[in-house]
Amino acid sequence: MPNQVFPFAEALATVLTHAASLPRPATEQVPLDEATNRILATPIVAPRDQPPFDRSTRDGFAIRAADIATPLKVIGQLRAGETWQHPPLAANQAIEIMTGAPVPTGADAVIMVEHTSLTGDTLHIDPSRTLRSGDNIVPRGAEARTGNTVLPTGRSLQAAEIAVAASCGCSTIAVFQQPTVAILATGDELVELGSTPLAAALKGRGFSPAIHTPPEEGASAPEGTALNEAEIYNSNSYALASLVRSTGGLPTRLPIARDNRADLDARLASAMDHDLLLLSGGVSMGKFDLVEEALAARGAEFFFTGAAIQPGKPIVFGKLPATETHEGPYFFGLPGNPVSTQVCFHLFVAPLLRALAGGSHLAPTFVEARLEHDIPSGPKVLRFLPAELTGTHESVTTRLVGWQGSGDLSANARGNCYCVLPIGQDLKAGDPVRVLLR
Ligand code: AMP
Ligand code: MG
Repeated sequence: MPNQVFPFAEALATVLTHAASLPRPATEQVPLDEATNRILATPIVAPRDQPPFDRSTRDGFAIRAADIATPLKVIGQLRAGETWQHPPLAANQAIEIMTGAPVPTGADAVIMVEHTSLTGDTLHIDPSRTLRSGDNIVPRGAEARTGNTVLPTGRSLQAAEIAVAASCGCSTIAVFQQPTVAILATGDELVELGSTPLAAALKGRGFSPAIHTPPEEGASAPEGTALNEAEIYNSNSYALASLVRSTGGLPTRLPIARDNRADLDARLASAMDHDLLLLSGGVSMGKFDLVEEALAARGAEFFFTGAAIQPGKPIVFGKLPATETHEGPYFFGLPGNPVSTQVCFHLFVAPLLRALAGGSHLAPTFVEARLEHDIPSGPKVLRFLPAELTGTHESVTTRLVGWQGSGDLSANARGNCYCVLPIGQDLKAGDPVRVLLR
């Protein structure tokens, strides 16, 4: 078995190199309403000039800017959705206009209603105001000309992108087919939510199988009471499925694999027809950590077998060989500790998954914030600790959430990001630090 623990930057670069080499997936058409988190497969081009007319950006009066100092005669009104059907506006005239209405020919500016007063149909403009030609008007085509690309291929479709598509009249949209992701949690201690007993795997190991009863319909009962105290619920598969979905993949949660080769081998065999395989647990140095061995037995190529980070050091990245029917899937063996699993997802899995989904922005996103407190004695290894990012329009700050280590799921959920602690650096309150967004 190879033993290649890479520095963080090298591990990420390795993932990104593989990600960049992936072909774009096939495309399909989906209703715009169902396109969130999907990746755009063909550029959206403006079907007409945007805006399609010289658009007033204010409620006010369309006038000639040069006329600002003279009383003006109001000759009509234009609401959003209407066009001026009369002769062009002439000198010393004004047309009342609403935000979003097309500015009539002859006018070259809009004075805000707040800066005017009316006596009958005579308009007076506050003499302290100035107005230049073009003020409060977005000219036709200023945002996009007919045929311009307004959204390029490879963008993840979120509210902003969906709004652009809607503004171009796309009720359906071309997206890439989603990569299929098999999620395989491993561990003798794991219990499936709502399941009946652990059974066979634990017998003969000094465990007494717990009595599990399915929860009553509609009850949010603490199922935990049914667990043997050494058992834990399989939370990683759910966390990973959620992360896969929001990253544009199509997750399948496989049944838990127990810590023996026969079970692992059988589960692995059932995952070969996916584009990506995410394993959780079983990649550390324990006696029953058999994941790498089982992958190696299937002819896996390993690109790295660890990253010099904490949490997440035992992460494994590689690819399985193709079978007669399928291209071999990429795989990540993620450390089972739930916070490690999630940190590794954001750092390494998400970039590859975004590429498999056809996305063009791949790398994880880091931002800078000011630390709210001292963090003495810099770590010996690069750390990504659960933290809370808060801010105002003036400053963005972050603080670590107290945690009990990489199994502490509730600390992880109290945070909203991961604070990067560089090797060997003592940090003081007010220092700038990097934060990994999730
Ligand atoms: P492992 O990586 O298998 O040595 O597991 C490390 C720790 O993570 C152990 O405390 C496991 O019980 C826990 N763990 C492993 N898999 C899961 C899972 N699917 N859900 C929740 N916790 C897990
Ligand atoms: Mg385990």
